Amino acid sequence: MHGGFHSKSSTLRLYASRKEGGRGLVSVRATIQDETSEIHKYIKDKAPTDGVLSECLRQWGTDEVLEEEPSWEDKPLHGMYHRNITEVADLKKSYQWLERAGLKDSTEALILAAQEQALSTRAIEAQIYHTRQDPRCRLCKEAPETVQHITAGCKMLAVKAYMERHNQVAGIVYRNICAEYGLETPRSKWETPPKVVENDRAKILWDFQIQTDRMVMANQPDIVVVDKEQRRAVVVDVAIPSDGNIRRKEHEKLEKYQGLREELEKAWKVKATVVPVVIGALGAVTPKLDEWLQHIPGSTSDISVQKKTVKSHDPQEKDDVLQMVVTRLPGVFLDIMQQREDTQRPSSLGSLLQGCHLSKTHHWHHLHDNPHQDHPLQPHQNSPHRDHQSRSTILV
Ligand SMILES: [Zn+2]
Repeated sequence: MHGGFHSKSSTLRLYASRKEGGRGLVSVRATIQDETSEIHKYIKDKAPTDGVLSECLRQWGTDEVLEEEPSWEDKPLHGMYHRNITEVADLKKSYQWLERAGLKDSTEALILAAQEQALSTRAIEAQIYHTRQDPRCRLCKEAPETVQHITAGCKMLAVKAYMERHNQVAGIVYRNICAEYGLETPRSKWETPPKVVENDRAKILWDFQIQTDRMVMANQPDIVVVDKEQRRAVVVDVAIPSDGNIRRKEHEKLEKYQGLREELEKAWKVKATVVPVVIGALGAVTPKLDEWLQHIPGSTSDISVQKKTVKSHDPQEKDDVLQMVVTRLPGVFLDIMQQREDTQRPSSLGSLLQGCHLSKTHHWHHLHDNPHQDHPLQPHQNSPHRDHQSRSTILV
């Protein structure tokens, strides 16, 4: 299917609606079932006044009980992501990129395969296939090589891949703020914004270390906007943790910048707000994201930041996270040829990964999101763009 479907991905999910996180394929079986029950219902309604239909109904016997289709959400591996984010995310919003981001089929397939634990990570090989002993990440050797680890928790990927992704998302927010105040936006999306831009309406700081009278927990958020007319400041910080951690991360960001918020209010005589912009590495968003974005001057939509995050898995993108993983972790994604061979040669392993014959007593919990697994990246601190010699400071 030209990379549009990963062979170990969930076939059940293919037929689920896109609104519910599926791929929206129309199932022949479901269509026939729908038609059959419609006809059945019609005959039942008309039978009392129609001799032929009444006889027909008698021959038909009692109502057929339609077999309940199994659901991809219940599958131990394929549904793990869905179950993981159910508690913390707005499910409808978390899957909206399927309908609204317009990604290529192959990128979509890759992201869903990652959500379904259908990639050959070492943790999967060790704990599910039993084809290797050591589940640890081959880059950092510190944690099991799970999908969560490679998309958000590996320190070896933090410096470049995660950083680029983070800066791209923060960049969207930054540009929108600039546009709102008529300030010049960076020419290309790869250009690092200047530390300070200002006009008579607003001042915008990018990754700026703010000096405060009192020691605060954190003083270098991604963006600070000061609206001079409204005497208002907004402190924006972006994070892309693994999807199960989005809500925790949101709280963490809020807490982290409270000290700075108070100091800014005191020193700059403004009303200040802290705004966390948190999107899961595979697209999950919290129910509050939309509300947070409303606090930011300009119009930043949830789909725009979410799209940027999931698009970072597009192999054509420069900041592509999964592509970097592919290059550095050969074999994580079976290539298309390999996929074809696998589908032609049904193995117990293949059916195992399709989730068909899995016993629920298996040890899937090993692969569950570890709440402390995210790499505690301070996004800009390792940035290659950072000029350590001339770190700017501002006196408040
Ligand atoms: Zn690692």
